[in-house]
Amino acid sequence: MHENYRNGARTCVRSSGSNRRRVRQIGIAQSSVEILINLAPAAVEKNGTWLDLPLAVIILQASGLLPDLAPEIESKLILFGELGIHGELRRVPGSLSLAFCAKPGDTLIVPKGNEKECALILAKPGHEGCRVYPAGTLEEVLEFFHGRSKLPNALKEEIKFQSIIDKALDFGRIRGQDEAKRAAVITAAGGHNLLLIGPPGEGKSLLASALPGILPQLTDGEKVELTRIYSAVGALAEDGQAVTRRPMRSVHHSVSMQALIGGGSGVPRPGEITMAHHGILFLDELPEFSRQALESVRQPLESGVVRITRVKASLEFPARFTLVAAMNPCPCGYSGSAQCTCDSKSIEKYQKKLSGPLLDRIDLQVEIKPLTTEERFAPVQDGESPKLRALVQKARQRQQQRFAGTDIPHNAAIPGGQVVDHCKFSEAGLRAFKEIASRGKVSTRTTDRLAKVARTVADLDDSIEVQPHHIEEAAKFVAGGVLQSE
Ligand SMILES: [Zn+2]
Repeated sequence: MHENYRNGARTCVRSSGSNRRRVRQIGIAQSSVEILINLAPAAVEKNGTWLDLPLAVIILQASGLLPDLAPEIESKLILFGELGIHGELRRVPGSLSLAFCAKPGDTLIVPKGNEKECALILAKPGHEGCRVYPAGTLEEVLEFFHGRSKLPNALKEEIKFQSIIDKALDFGRIRGQDEAKRAAVITAAGGHNLLLIGPPGEGKSLLASALPGILPQLTDGEKVELTRIYSAVGALAEDGQAVTRRPMRSVHHSVSMQALIGGGSGVPRPGEITMAHHGILFLDELPEFSRQALESVRQPLESGVVRITRVKASLEFPARFTLVAAMNPCPCGYSGSAQCTCDSKSIEKYQKKLSGPLLDRIDLQVEIKPLTTEERFAPVQDGESPKLRALVQKARQRQQQRFAGTDIPHNAAIPGGQVVDHCKFSEAGLRAFKEIASRGKVSTRTTDRLAKVARTVADLDDSIEVQPHHIEEAAKFVAGGVLQSE
């Protein structure tokens, strides 16, 4: 039936052909009336299969096979779902966003497969009184309309999110690289963007793969936001469980613009940067990405949203992600050692692929150095990630208290003009900060980055004020990076 409404706002459903067959399949006598359904507003394209259930219900109502509901009940009823040929109700993508159309006190009838995500509406302030009824078949819905049976009400317990700890590689398993590990902890704690620079095979990807294991837990609001995104693109787990962990999206440099930032020929779809919302976007071999791709992530990095405009619609998607990128120091990867076969011109060309404005948005740069023989054979042991994660979590709690009542999620997102107000320097800290800021050619953007990273270092240190030693450590990563944007 859904093919009928895909391309038009108006559709005429005759009780014939496949519809008649379906009606017969579920044991309802067919009628011979002709029904005209108007799907207003006509200008909005309808796609997907979620209108199957409401269409079936109104057809049956118009045919006199279902009782009319009292207007006050009908106006508070939301139902959607895809119908199978035998009347079974199938889950549809985007159901949480559909459920979010509910007003306080509304009743929702949803496919069983969408029950868990739709129950999240009960967590929306003011919506505790909503009722969410999961149904398995059209027949069950009809019995409910006739008042002959009750559908089970989705339990509020469903919305108690499980807290899943990511089983990522343990930091204790990474040999050496103390400085890079510290940069990763600061990244996780403050949501700062990070660039790892080093020769191939020395652990850049390894470090990135360990990062999910130390990321702070999502807040309930963030879980709902992520579940709406993953529901909309049909990427929720098979059981429809809500998203409860921060995403880590690893993207190859051959990625298309559409897959990276979102798009598509009809109604725009979210891309990888939206799938990485509240999590990490990992771009390995950063200079291999097209200039266009790198430039397109620049603006979302700043604003936390991406606007996609197509002929049929212009939509804004959330994209507040942390960028973790990795690159070789030169085309062959061994710059600085006797192995390097690159001339200075090709190294310069390689590094120039990254524009200053993009590098300006990367707070931390750290060099991954080849391991010494001693480090190479040092013993490794698990158990470091849980300790680091506890530190990160505590630092994030400090930030949540600091930014309560604002829409700033973490230190990295402090807007330009408010950096010094939020960072709370001690007297000596402010002196040290001004001293660095007055050195040579340091842009305002760089000093802002320095202040924000120093604030995160102080949060990890459980310190109310930013002290000189916090600024000193931050400066190692911000101003002492291998590539300079100044
Ligand atoms: Zn080289």
